[in-house]
Amino acid sequence: RAAGEAALDQIEQLMQEGMHMPENGLRMVDAVTPARAVKTPPSITIRNLHFAYPDGVQVFNGLHAHVRAGEHVALVAPSGAGKSTLQALIAGMAIAQHGDILVDGVPLQADTVSALRARMAWIGQKPHVFAGSVRSNIALGRKEIGKDDVELALHLAALHKVPQAQPGVMLGEMGGGLSGGEAVRLALARAAANPHADILLVDEPTAHLDRETSEQVMRALLRLAKDKTMLVATHDPALIEQLDRSIVLGEEVRVRA
Ligand code: ADP
Ligand code: MG
Repeated sequence: RAAGEAALDQIEQLMQEGMHMPENGLRMVDAVTPARAVKTPPSITIRNLHFAYPDGVQVFNGLHAHVRAGEHVALVAPSGAGKSTLQALIAGMAIAQHGDILVDGVPLQADTVSALRARMAWIGQKPHVFAGSVRSNIALGRKEIGKDDVELALHLAALHKVPQAQPGVMLGEMGGGLSGGEAVRLALARAAANPHADILLVDEPTAHLDRETSEQVMRALLRLAKDKTMLVATHDPALIEQLDRSIVLGEEVRVRA
């Protein structure tokens, strides 16, 4: 059964690749360029997940869900239903009492968590801004990230023309001169500069943003998510519309519980 599942995942991956292939076949050219890591983003499978916080709040009681390789899924549920908790569990920041989280079929557990976590970028609702330059906030000490990578990441996040988000500008711990939307985009730039991240976990990226800012964030998010698997907690109809489908916590997801 496990082998069958792995084969299915592979077929799904191949189909996904086909679906994302542009008419001009550029992606095929990419695929034979040895300098580029040719890796399909992973699938995420949640199997019979049970999770309670130490103080006893039972958040999941037999949760099942599957995100296919390269899929962009909205995680939709009322406030308090566990969207952020599920992202924390997938990111390996919390451990479920029972059940499995599989990334490309590999269970997230003590001996795999650091390798799997390295593939993930978690963009929280209030992304952390460190005291330091914009550049160091994006590179996070990774030596392989060069000047060009930072510029590219800022461009992708639509921050390249924002004066207070230039690489050399010093930010304070509270976000410096950045607005809420700019701080989210800084976190997107950080994810964009991480060459290992092919899973994006994004928590309500457009909440509390005005229309124009939320459209900028959405565009940046979708650019970043190209060729990645993405799970976005959101209530925003405009964002949901841009994603492949929704997983509704508390509905179909719990049917098999
Ligand atoms: P959502 O993101 O969908 O709003 P959360 O995942 O934040 O939901 O919360 C799910 C449930 O877990 C809520 O009942 C919330 O009060 C509880 N919860 C969240 N974080 C903690 C925590 N650190 N300790 C205890 N309970 C928590
Ligand atoms: Mg939340």
